[in-house]
Amino acid sequence: MGERVLIALGGNAMTASDGSASPGDQRRAVEGAMGHVAALLAAGHQVVLTHGNGPQVGNLMLKNQLAAGVVPPVPLDWCGAQTQATIGTLVLNALEGRAAVVVTRTLVDPADPAFADPVKPIGRYVTEDEVRRFEGLGQTWRRFERGWRRVVASPEPLQILDAPAVAALMTAGFVVVAAGGGGVPVVRTPAGRLAGIEAVVDKDLAAALLARTVRAAILVIATDVPCAATGFGTPAARPIGAVTAAGLRRLQAAGHFAGGSMGPKVEAALRFVEHGGDRAVITSLEGIGAAVAGETGTVVRK
Ligand code: ADP
Ligand code: MG
Repeated sequence: MGERVLIALGGNAMTASDGSASPGDQRRAVEGAMGHVAALLAAGHQVVLTHGNGPQVGNLMLKNQLAAGVVPPVPLDWCGAQTQATIGTLVLNALEGRAAVVVTRTLVDPADPAFADPVKPIGRYVTEDEVRRFEGLGQTWRRFERGWRRVVASPEPLQILDAPAVAALMTAGFVVVAAGGGGVPVVRTPAGRLAGIEAVVDKDLAAALLARTVRAAILVIATDVPCAATGFGTPAARPIGAVTAAGLRRLQAAGHFAGGSMGPKVEAALRFVEHGGDRAVITSLEGIGAAVAGETGTVVRK
């Protein structure tokens, strides 16, 4: 019996995290992942896709900076929209006529506390001299161990605004690619209009919201490790297999999942299952098929 599966493809699993992956590398990574998706379709499953875009957005921002004297830099939400189109196009080619891409906006609250305290690092590391110039443009930059990096707000996703279009295309039989990069963040202005905003919605949290919105049975979060682990990065590291939501909440509270990487995946898996999703699986791109079959990854159930 086919199930409705939402698969979130990790940005770092599709590119090098430093943004160095060539277009050919990215195309091959998407083609590889779509091989697994095609197998799921052949088995009768219905698939919705979303994807990260961190390295890709970082590259677009760098181009903005380097070309600022020649062409006007575009806002961060425009960069996000561009990555939905480019990654979506790779999926369209790989799935030949079976897919559709929806440029997707995610509604956020302009009063979200994240705007007062931007913590999400984006783009590349730069030198202190360069930072002074960018701060003059109103950007927030922070010093990390490896150098200075721009930080932006990562507000909570409230609503996947284009979910009705996603649902219509799903009903028509398409594999829909939606909410790439967490969706293009927009706010409702005091005048009642929708406007883009300089922010980044976490793609894992947006994936969980999209999965709930389209009533997926299974959320697969595909990244570059086969499962979540306790004691990650230490000699005591242990893979987590089947786990209840309550058990995973306890491990989360004990600090096993790093913020900005595994943390949001675990939170997304928990939110999905706690709101009625059947199961969430955290695994690698290669593990997508086995994850849907229930044979691999960190499997979270109520
Ligand atoms: P993506 O681009 O798929 O979102 P991320 O780099 O954000 O990927 O997150 C995946 C990374 O999370 C892994 O490569 C791993 O280094 C890191 N990580 C942090 N904590 C853990 C953990 N407890 N278990 C497994 N991986 C972890
Ligand atoms: Mg990530």
